Amino acid sequence: MKRMIFILPFAFALTAQGAPKSEVESVKLGGYIGTQIDGCIEKRVIGQSVDELIEPFKLQDEVNNRWASEFWGKWIQGAVSSYRYNKSPELLAKIEDAEKKLIATQLPDGYIGDYDTEHQLKGWDVWGRKYTLLGLIKCYRLMGHKEALKAAQRLLDYTITQIGPGTGRHINRCGMYRGMPPLSILEPVTFMYNETGDQRYLDFAKHIVEEMEGAEGPKLLTKADVPVSMRYPLQEGQGWWSFENGQKGYEMMSCYVGLLEMYRLTANAQYLQAALSTWNHIMQEEINITGGACSLECWYGGQRLQQLPTAHTMETCVTFTWMQFCERLHEITGEAKYIDQIERTMYNALMASIKDDHSQIVKYVPLEGFRREGEHQCDVKINCCNANAPRAFAMIPRIAYRTPSESRIDVNLYIPSSAKVKLGKRTIQLEQATHYPQDGQVDITVTPDKETQAQLALRIPGWTPKATVTVNGEEVQGVTTGQYLVIDRTWKAGDKVSLAVDMPSRIVRLEQFVAYERGPVVLARDSRFNDGFVDEVIMPASTQNGTPTLTPATPMPGTWMTFTTPVIHGTYSDRQCDIIQMHLCDFASAGNQWDEKTRYRVWLPLLYEPMYKGGTAINGYW
Ligand SMILES: [Zn+2]
Repeated sequence: MKRMIFILPFAFALTAQGAPKSEVESVKLGGYIGTQIDGCIEKRVIGQSVDELIEPFKLQDEVNNRWASEFWGKWIQGAVSSYRYNKSPELLAKIEDAEKKLIATQLPDGYIGDYDTEHQLKGWDVWGRKYTLLGLIKCYRLMGHKEALKAAQRLLDYTITQIGPGTGRHINRCGMYRGMPPLSILEPVTFMYNETGDQRYLDFAKHIVEEMEGAEGPKLLTKADVPVSMRYPLQEGQGWWSFENGQKGYEMMSCYVGLLEMYRLTANAQYLQAALSTWNHIMQEEINITGGACSLECWYGGQRLQQLPTAHTMETCVTFTWMQFCERLHEITGEAKYIDQIERTMYNALMASIKDDHSQIVKYVPLEGFRREGEHQCDVKINCCNANAPRAFAMIPRIAYRTPSESRIDVNLYIPSSAKVKLGKRTIQLEQATHYPQDGQVDITVTPDKETQAQLALRIPGWTPKATVTVNGEEVQGVTTGQYLVIDRTWKAGDKVSLAVDMPSRIVRLEQFVAYERGPVVLARDSRFNDGFVDEVIMPASTQNGTPTLTPATPMPGTWMTFTTPVIHGTYSDRQCDIIQMHLCDFASAGNQWDEKTRYRVWLPLLYEPMYKGGTAINGYW
């Protein structure tokens, strides 16, 4: 094993030089979203036993193709992102402890993992190494510990001796699902090249991309124009959980995240194009109303089937990886539409994943029924989603405000918050007061340390029909929904920016089902309201076609938003005189106690009336 001692000073130099001149120095989110993030950090990140995660790496006795080696890397990435947000000394100590204990398990040949020597490279071993590498790199970037970088180098060097160019072994055969799990090691390999400048890592990254296109590989470049659920239709006798299934959702997106990093390194447009095409397919065919996707963890053309009760939908690992895919594309393209999607997923699929006491994160989030605690996996008291989801919660503060250049601040999310932003030599304090999305009013006070010429860019959500922006009471022209409004001016202490977003209520119809939305929030019936059966047919009684009347009501304890809306319900009701006020709450709050005696439902069955052609909008009714 070569010792790359000369690499370390170079890596340090890169880290020091690479420090951005503009950055969000600190941000604090309040309100509902802030509370959920704080709860996740306290219970799921700080509350996690490190020793539990380390144990499999000490035992190194895995012979059954399991994935215990992913938990440490998933958890610590969430921990590092959480620490960057809350700067808790307790959390930092925990991260250092986890880093030290993991490195202590490294074998003389460089291996870090839980697989028995004879069984290395099988099952989820390479996938687990990916998370280990990512975790070590994130530790190094946070704390500058060269031990972490060195451990990552030794693990990667060892891996290259096993599956690198010239070894004759195919990476795409080191796992299931057309090799997508092991091929997703591409992302940390590109990061290792960034950190060290070692050409061998770039060569290995290129080799991984070739393996993607290899004989049995997933062909993520050449099949990028094929719908994601139809790239490898399963033939008779091929199993769902098999090598032949090329539709595994988050493993596929993880590979595209790696390809986007390759695009940043090489500027090869084919990598970006393949990722964009796949993102479009996922958007058009898979992502459901709540911003989640997949059944039994795979693409299945789920968007047009989402109204049907479906097995194991919306794995939280898929939810996180979708947000991650959107985040990387936003970083590269700067397009507001990616934040629109993160916003939808955040308010709905992600917030629905966490139990009301923050003690657990769910594995699957059905659109109807109930949620329940996931199983412990691989003899560790955790599962993939509990380990992974804190990364999604900790992503929110990171994207709420961004500095894409030295003269621009993006305000991406509307959450009561304060942020201290360094913009070149200037420091700008932002205070955001809002009840968004309960209403659409957002007021931002801008306080630079000195009068400053800068751009403040507001994301105007794509789902709103109308928004207006004022600065110190004067309307700003050029507001376009789905785009950033860039306000370029000299900012003085106390300048006030106000954004007023129309918060439309909508009824969405899919075949003989309807769902209610308000702004970015999906609503659901919940049996805890005790106002009828959640599975019963309804007929919305709205004042305008497709626009329901939603009246705010007192929320149930432990829930966020509640509304009532007029409907007739059941097949016996008379549309003239049997209108009731049906309760709806935000989807995330529906069923959030994980009490299996209660039920909730997003897609409500629509009453069929032959007299009115089965549901044509007539006289303000459907
Ligand atoms: Zn999972």
